[in-house]
Amino acid sequence: MSEAVKVVVRCRPFNSREKENASDRCITIDQETNQVIMREVDGNPMRNFAYDAVYDSESRQTDVYEQTAKPIVNSCFDGYNGTVFCYGQTGAGKTFTMEGKEEPKELRGIVYNTFYHIFDNIAQQPEGVQTMVTVSFLEIYNEELRDLIGPKGQKLELKESKEKGLHVKGLSQVCIQEANKIDSLLQTGKKNRTVGATLMNAESSRSHSIFMISIETSETNTATGEKMFRVGKLNLVDLAGSERADKTGATGDRLQEGCKINMSLSALGNVISALVEGKGKHVPYRNSKLTRLLQDSLGGNTKTVMVANISPADFNYDETYSTLRYASRAKKI
Ligand code: ADP
Ligand code: MG
Repeated sequence: MSEAVKVVVRCRPFNSREKENASDRCITIDQETNQVIMREVDGNPMRNFAYDAVYDSESRQTDVYEQTAKPIVNSCFDGYNGTVFCYGQTGAGKTFTMEGKEEPKELRGIVYNTFYHIFDNIAQQPEGVQTMVTVSFLEIYNEELRDLIGPKGQKLELKESKEKGLHVKGLSQVCIQEANKIDSLLQTGKKNRTVGATLMNAESSRSHSIFMISIETSETNTATGEKMFRVGKLNLVDLAGSERADKTGATGDRLQEGCKINMSLSALGNVISALVEGKGKHVPYRNSKLTRLLQDSLGGNTKTVMVANISPADFNYDETYSTLRYASRAKKI
């Protein structure tokens, strides 16, 4: 958990469509060696990929949370920034991993677990320590930023100023005082999302959705009366589906969206692999809205986790192979 960039893979269970197609398993998850093994399929040789952690279809939401987002949430209380991404083709389990459901508890994904954890931490703080939690929820669709909890459909601009640094002008910020307030905010934001039907999944989201959480702590030194402030920012990002635009049967606007999605996902991959390569390497943040927006939470003193979500079925072989390669490149093994 000490490295700045971690890459993990989570394989979901078979879905009903794959069962109907009598699809075979092409993925084995080896939790002992942290490897994902793709078996030989249609003349493609067997392939192995190793990551920081791997989760099979039996994995629990809390296991994924504890080992991915939790350390980042804790470091936000110390004033560091961090980002968690879910990457993968539509239907691979990104939203299940990132959000899940608030009830029953076992279904809580990273967003819910993060807020319950934040308010547990706050409840245990000693006297003289106060924390304010604020949230913004936005999407990037066709390289445009939209507020998901503000005036509907409002387009927003990324600005840079001396006082505020890099920020989204006019973005709504909501102060949250209890973990159970996050669900209604999440539901409001989801209603405002831009969705387009593709052949892959009627509910498929073609936009990146980003939960930005700011944790501001003030601490009064009881001896001297001196006040200290620190701010940590956490971004929870449910990326748009990584499937290739031409494979989904998209035409016109949908194809145009697909090209922009692929462009921004490859810009993100380039930023992460530059960060993994390390010092002295130019980090190309400016090539997409997503990487510009997250610039101060990627690299430097920040922590990043990429969760690559995959299907176990040979029906999805090509997309799974592409996801595993993307994730490996982010890890540069
Ligand atoms: P994506 O957001 O990547 O398009 P979803 O998260 O919506 O995919 O997952 C597709 C379907 O598979 C959903 O019905 C979801 O509940 C189910 N699913 C995904 N991952 C898991 C998992 N690990 N365990 C059980 N069901 C899952
Ligand atoms: Mg989704």
